[in-house]
Amino acid sequence: MATKNKSNIDSSEIEKFNLLAHKWWDSTSEFKPLHDINPLRLDYIKSKINLANKHVLDVGCGGGILTESLAKEGAIVTGIDQGDKVIKIAQIHALENNLNIDYKQLNIEDFLKKNKKKYDVITCLEMLEHVPDPSSVIQACRRLLKPDGRMFFSTINRNPKSFLFAIIGAEYVLKLLPKGTHTYEKFITPAELIQWCRENELNVLDIIGMTYNPILKRYKLEKDTSVNYLIEVAFDAT
Ligand code: SAH
Repeated sequence: MATKNKSNIDSSEIEKFNLLAHKWWDSTSEFKPLHDINPLRLDYIKSKINLANKHVLDVGCGGGILTESLAKEGAIVTGIDQGDKVIKIAQIHALENNLNIDYKQLNIEDFLKKNKKKYDVITCLEMLEHVPDPSSVIQACRRLLKPDGRMFFSTINRNPKSFLFAIIGAEYVLKLLPKGTHTYEKFITPAELIQWCRENELNVLDIIGMTYNPILKRYKLEKDTSVNYLIEVAFDAT
């Protein structure tokens, strides 16, 4: 199976994150939502797989919020991100916190060309909706996964409710995220994500929603996948 041979990078997306990179670890900043949801998504991953001593690749790792928490669970972690400023912040923060994480400034397609190692766990959270061709990311991740490995993807569903909650609500009303963080057309339905997985002989083992209660200001994992959701993926057993 050929990996699509193009950069699969939207430079305006990379710039957007680079410009804010210095605020990544400020949990009151534009990155507050990522800080707030991190314990939930880490718990979800931990409920599926024991991370101790596992080789983990975090794709589109940003400043390393999830990456560091995976390392703290005893995983041997590599984090990749296309943003040069973003990856520098991640490197500095890990150094300051005595965490041994191998960070590289690369997209997954280029990482695949350079790297021969395979991983027990691949995480790619809140990133697919920022790339031109998400299916190419899934294809490249698959090639880096051990036969008995697990992958976790998260993204935002595409429907009138997600437009209202993830764009109007989060960016304009509650101002949880800067305006322009997300583009509605780039949101991904679970059916699309599942189809891309199937095309790569991958099986979606589980899907779970992540909801936000603006009154309680709390995130929760639950069945409702209409806005944010996470999936667990493995190779087809057959
Ligand atoms: N996964 C992290 C960060 C999500 S923000 C978390 O959930 O905490 C999205 C990240 O994807 C940004 O850091 C951005 O630089 C990165 N990104 C966007 N397009 C990319 C690409 N084509 N290759 C690698 N990283 C990319």
